[in-house]
Amino acid sequence: MDARVILKSSAPFIAHYSGIARALAFRYAGPGTIFLLHSVVDDIAHYIDKDLRCPALVLERILGWLRDQGVEFVSLDEAVERLGRSSLGKFCVFTFDDGYADNLTHALPVMERFDAPFTVYVATGMINGEIDGWWFGLGELIRTRECLELPELGCRFDCPDLARKRRTFVAIRTLIDTNSEALAAVRTAIAVSGIDCHELARAESLNPEQLRRLAASPLVTIGAHSVRHINFQRAPAAEVEREMTTSRRVLQDIIGREVKHFAYPFGACGSREAQIAHSAGFRTAVTTQRGALFPEHVNHLYALPREPIYAKDNASSLRCKIDGTYRAFHSRLGDPVAHM
Ligand SMILES: [Zn+2]
Repeated sequence: MDARVILKSSAPFIAHYSGIARALAFRYAGPGTIFLLHSVVDDIAHYIDKDLRCPALVLERILGWLRDQGVEFVSLDEAVERLGRSSLGKFCVFTFDDGYADNLTHALPVMERFDAPFTVYVATGMINGEIDGWWFGLGELIRTRECLELPELGCRFDCPDLARKRRTFVAIRTLIDTNSEALAAVRTAIAVSGIDCHELARAESLNPEQLRRLAASPLVTIGAHSVRHINFQRAPAAEVEREMTTSRRVLQDIIGREVKHFAYPFGACGSREAQIAHSAGFRTAVTTQRGALFPEHVNHLYALPREPIYAKDNASSLRCKIDGTYRAFHSRLGDPVAHM
């Protein structure tokens, strides 16, 4: 791994152990934190897309650690209410993106043990097969190959074992984020191999009956996460608006309840997307920007930051997350309040 990458990913830990994080926390720790997860499984041992998976036991350990630190578990609506108040203790909100069936079978039982409210942001295309779930196809492509070539990009990845398959998955996802040609090249490779991304997504998705059962829990808030899960910043405004309003309508029809919250696919959000979420009538929208929640976020309800949870998280990394250490590093000691 590149030395700069190691240094960047290690920086918050170095800060934690050297005491710098404690000093940074005076400025970067807010009263609240929104955590982001995707799928919750028994064991991540065989998953290539491991950053999207959290073992149920790890989730349980994280909830236990947070409770021991005196961090209160609240719903998203309660968190918004608390932004307007002062002198309350630390709180956090758990959110799960995309609409995995394991949010019902694996996450809900853990959250119930801690009486912890949570929000599930569902991309309705997961349910009906309309999702542009290229990452499901990419995972399958890497799983079934020892070497992957993307000739349009002049790239070749050797992936004969699990460790290299995982690195290849992360490398290609990063490539897609930074190179506008990359997604087309990946789509071509998936199509040529005959992999059906829609079917792979549907196999992991909540079905309407499961979604209703999840929504029936008093702990659960259902939020919208678009239909096709496309990158909004590469789409026309009319399409962004349609994705937001259609996903909300489909979810409301299934669960019979108002859907008030939105999560931008891939966290891709600028001022245009925030304005559309506001105009579409959502109460909040969350991004993937790092950082804590501050009272100032009442003025930025359509760009609320979230801290991701990974299987490898431990007390040190969680402390860095609730103390805003990652925000300090990602913003290069800039504004503690992550917004547009
Ligand atoms: Zn998503």
